Amino acid sequence: MSTPDRSPGLWRRIPLWQKILVGLALGVLVGTLMGESASVFKPIGDIFISAIKMLIVPLVFSTLVVGITAMRDPQKMGRIGARTIALYLVTTAFAIAIGLAASWLFQPGVGLDMTFEANPDAAKEAPSLVQIVVGLVPQNPVDALASGNILQIIVFAIGLGVSLTLIGEKGEPVVKVFESFAEAMVKLTSLVMALAPFGVFGLIAHVAGSYGAEVLLPLVKVIGVAYLASVVHVLVVYSGLLSLLGRLNPVRYLQGILDALVVAYSSASSSGTLPVSLRCATKNLGVSEGVAGFVLPVGATINMDGTAIYQGVVAVFIAQLIGVDLSLADYGMIIVTGTLASIGTAGVPGAGLVMLSIVMAQIGLPLEALAVVAGVDRILDMARTSVNVAGDLMVTTLVGKSEGELDENVYNAANKT
Ligand code: ASP
Repeated sequence: MSTPDRSPGLWRRIPLWQKILVGLALGVLVGTLMGESASVFKPIGDIFISAIKMLIVPLVFSTLVVGITAMRDPQKMGRIGARTIALYLVTTAFAIAIGLAASWLFQPGVGLDMTFEANPDAAKEAPSLVQIVVGLVPQNPVDALASGNILQIIVFAIGLGVSLTLIGEKGEPVVKVFESFAEAMVKLTSLVMALAPFGVFGLIAHVAGSYGAEVLLPLVKVIGVAYLASVVHVLVVYSGLLSLLGRLNPVRYLQGILDALVVAYSSASSSGTLPVSLRCATKNLGVSEGVAGFVLPVGATINMDGTAIYQGVVAVFIAQLIGVDLSLADYGMIIVTGTLASIGTAGVPGAGLVMLSIVMAQIGLPLEALAVVAGVDRILDMARTSVNVAGDLMVTTLVGKSEGELDENVYNAANKT
């Protein structure tokens, strides 16, 4: 007599994104019911995040070296670089404008009476833009790898990839090692992603349990405006650009990026989400590893549309809160400094709050007012990180399409992993 055991098969048959969404929903439910004691589940989330972070440096480094050596054509590399940067800048400017417009329209700070205490730390931590540019070149690549400095790793990987191409046959053994290593890292990413439903559950239960109504309620309007602007940006700007420039169906894009969105939302770190984004780009959207391996790590460090939206929304919110009328020049200043500040924002939790101080200082708003939103920063951070990651994946798709490096059969497939 056979004993049929269907449960492992059933679990495997459910697509990963559905399991992750269930983890998210259960996390919200359990966190809301259990309150602060839901933080007992946080270690599960922490293990998951550490496992993803473990992948970032080796995955980015090996995929990028392989990608660069596979491209071979320096002109193509230059073109991809230029398109990537141009698209990142354009989408960020759109983002900040949408954020400003949303706050101007819905006036979340008008009529609110909130006091704030000095928070001088926020301003001190922000690096200057010159420092950021100078810091691109690693003095010691091993140090850059050890400390996980993604931009420095990108610079070194490009240099190594170009050099391996230039030495031709002599470089092949090393290229083969990187190819095999990159393959193993992609596999390891899939293994780690099997933990995602549990990790997301642990992280979300903790967040949902630790924000009580008394913290959230006064700021519910500004949180709502920031979320609304984020959704509008993704649905209008990203979908629009994909349809108009790429002639691609945006629904397939949204389906393909779900895993990355949920991991971004629960971890609040776009750098931390990078391995998942790489997997979504190649497996679900059909972008070649070469393009994804370059465009995504660059995006995870410099393209922060969600952060830009947030800066627009919060800067105007604070001006309304303290009764300052912003002039047209102030709005222009927010667009310029907000774009630059978002580029300098690291893809880690809470970084956007620090960079917001640059924008506020430029238009003469008191930095102490940051304390008002600091209490709910995690909630805002989750939304902005999701948009940051969605933006990286949208640009990666467009660049892939424009270079003939997008497999449209994979992109258009209804069943995503
Ligand atoms: N947490 C965001 C990210 O990782 C950055 C931010 O704080 O705005 O993308």
